[in-house]
Amino acid sequence: MKEITKVGVIGAGTMGNGIAQVFAMAGYKAVMVDINQKFLDRGLAGITKSLSRMVDKGKLAAESVDGILGRITTSLELEACKDCQLVVEAAVEDIGVKTEIFTKLDKACPADALLTTNTSTISVTEIGAATGRPDRIAGMHFMNPVPVMKLVEVVRGLATSDETIETVVELAKKLGKTPVVVNDSPGFVSNRLLLPMINEAVFALEQGVADKEAIDDVMKLGMNHPLGPLALADLIGLDVCLAILNVLHRDLGDPKYRPCPLLKRMVAAGYLGRKTRKGFYDYPKK
Ligand code: NAD
Repeated sequence: MKEITKVGVIGAGTMGNGIAQVFAMAGYKAVMVDINQKFLDRGLAGITKSLSRMVDKGKLAAESVDGILGRITTSLELEACKDCQLVVEAAVEDIGVKTEIFTKLDKACPADALLTTNTSTISVTEIGAATGRPDRIAGMHFMNPVPVMKLVEVVRGLATSDETIETVVELAKKLGKTPVVVNDSPGFVSNRLLLPMINEAVFALEQGVADKEAIDDVMKLGMNHPLGPLALADLIGLDVCLAILNVLHRDLGDPKYRPCPLLKRMVAAGYLGRKTRKGFYDYPKK
């Protein structure tokens, strides 16, 4: 495997811009690709804001900001990844969108490039099968917010080679993260455990067991969670939560994963959490 110097990041949303940021902070060049210039602009603005927060907190030297931003470029074309040795796909959680992206990346990228996905729950094996290089496909599942969270769940698809896993593990360490290797299964470990808890919190809210603040306080104060499950759902994005539950429900075939009707109604109303400034809580513009 060639040395990795430049990575492609597909999607400039909640996760994509954080992923581009951590690569650039670790000295890699990153090209961020999205379907609309306004999403790229919003992603870049998010990175700039996050870096300046780090400077304010004394976690980053002010002089390094320009260099980090200078390593990030943007594009509306997947072909911009043609000189990348690795790509992390972080587009919407939709198998159709992801397989189309991977089919195109397979054509556009060098034959020995590794193509990874930040999917929360979609099968890495199925995504890999859409390409001619299933041995060089893996999950590189970052946590939200990417610059803060230590874990990268590295997902081994059925056809993923040991060399691919080793490269992704080493890369995650170079980003200052802690990789944990898991096998391909719906929701992997993280979301298989997290999403049923969030879903149960929504059921508890819908059934009037307690109000949202009380539900979140019980988990924060009683279980030492830094965020309550409903506030965490707002951070993740309620559409993302629903998409994950739908895959868990369909692919594991167990009714315990059925999404709560209230979660479905919130998504139908466009209340997606922090990104739309309204979810279980309101997030007024400052
Ligand atoms: P998001 O909705 O914030 O961003 C998705 C971005 O992908 C959007 O900007 C959209 O325009 C772009 N996009 C859509 N189709 C595209 C295409 N064909 N080519 C390029 N860009 C395209 O979503 P997100 O929360 O950043 O999630 C991205 C991925 O990361 C999903 O697979 C999700 O399951 C996963 N994930 C999310 C979280 C989380 O907490 N939100 C955590 C871990 C993993």
